Amino acid sequence: MRTFMLNLKIIFFMKKVVSVFALSMLFFACKNDKKPVETTTVEDTKEVVEENVNPDVVEITLEANDNMQFDKNEIKVPVGKEVKLTLKHTGKMSKDLMGHNFVLLNEGADMAAFAAEAMKAKDSDYIPASKASDIMAHTDLIGGGESTSVTFTVEKPGTYEYLCSFPAHYAMMKGKLIAE
Ligand code: ZN
Repeated sequence: MRTFMLNLKIIFFMKKVVSVFALSMLFFACKNDKKPVETTTVEDTKEVVEENVNPDVVEITLEANDNMQFDKNEIKVPVGKEVKLTLKHTGKMSKDLMGHNFVLLNEGADMAAFAAEAMKAKDSDYIPASKASDIMAHTDLIGGGESTSVTFTVEKPGTYEYLCSFPAHYAMMKGKLIAE
């Protein structure tokens, strides 16, 4: 994809150089986007490609790293629409040492109380059965280099909290999901 973008850039800057290779790249770009390639920026093309994956599902990527951080502390989603959240662990550490998950809590759930129960639930990857009613959605627990997805729909407008339920991570790994 990066090579493709680079080729695209070269095409923009060297419009006079028309090789067979450049023509084939243009052909592929046109397949993804009906607008003329000349008026489309590289960023626009990327957005169009992502939207074309499945227009009925809102796709969100949340990254987690070896420094016990999520890359977002606020996520906005539309009410009543299917959301596919992909959690990507960009670090290298194992699941045992630096495991991460995404747990979205229901309205009114007590995050500290939830995390305290989660800590004891090692056998179920820190998803406590005793607090199942607090959970709206959650991903699997993953280690460095892995990614996992969960699909959910928020039915009611509001602000919901999310966390990583690996022991002690929620102090740093938490955020708000706003459905509107
Ligand atoms: Zn974590």
